[in-house]
Amino acid sequence: MVSVVERVLYSGRTKYQEVDVAVNDDYGKMLVLDGKLQSSTSDEFIYHEMLVHPALVTHGNPRDVLIIGGGEGATLREVLRYRSVRSATMVDIDGEVVEVCEKYLPEMHQGSFRDPRTRLVIGDGREYLRRTDERFDAIIVDATDPIEGGPSRLLYTLEFYELARSRLREGGILSTQGTSTFYNARTFATIVNTMSRVFPHVRGYQASIPSYISDWGFVVGSLGRDPASVTPEEAEARARELGLPELNYYEPAHHPHYFWLPPRVRRILAEERGISRDEEPVSVY
Ligand code: SAM
Repeated sequence: MVSVVERVLYSGRTKYQEVDVAVNDDYGKMLVLDGKLQSSTSDEFIYHEMLVHPALVTHGNPRDVLIIGGGEGATLREVLRYRSVRSATMVDIDGEVVEVCEKYLPEMHQGSFRDPRTRLVIGDGREYLRRTDERFDAIIVDATDPIEGGPSRLLYTLEFYELARSRLREGGILSTQGTSTFYNARTFATIVNTMSRVFPHVRGYQASIPSYISDWGFVVGSLGRDPASVTPEEAEARARELGLPELNYYEPAHHPHYFWLPPRVRRILAEERGISRDEEPVSVY
């Protein structure tokens, strides 16, 4: 039985969204944007490890990584674990959210904003990609769900993935959260379809996240190796070379098995034909 909010630590409204940091007996401290739980200190490791490591271990030598969104600094924390990483650029649209997270959620960022390899940019992630002449080994999209009128809606479209691909180096990789495979399986399937138009290898996968009360989807698109073709032995060797410590959820020895999806989700993937485009972007329903 899940308890309700015990205590509110911060509550405010930024130019883009409502922000709350609250405490719950079961899940610890929670970041809530526009009334939607983003992460909680008890289980954020599942989401952030699964967003970052399947992609970066598949890549094998990530040097320059771009994070779009990622307010809490926990995706940044996971990216900075790689000794190959020389720059981690995080572009979040909402500077006030980042400030609130830095102040109230140190358990999540664990000082990652102060790492000398970190470059924090406040701005729209897509606009940043459009203007930059930099090239990245990996792009991690850790944005809010696509909702009508929300700031992240155009981070899940064909045009966005084409732009992102053009800013990746040879063998580059992009991973994104893919919304709930339980409540929004068709949205997840549409993201997989859309990325499949742009990347030669695309894999959707999921992990169960207790505080979301759902299995959560992720999608990775690779210009190099098929993520599911990396064997446990290869993943373990890469993790060792890259200096990845023992984590709490992602385990290199299990790497290819993360790409299993249950039959219901596989059926929806096989049936869904939708492509998300700027003129009609996918959204959660
Ligand atoms: N774990 C999350 C979830 O539940 O899906 C996502 C976490 S993170 C807090 C989402 C971040 O994306 C927020 O900090 C928000 O400001 C940022 N964001 C939304 N739209 C964006 C955009 N267009 N460009 C950059 N950042 C964006």
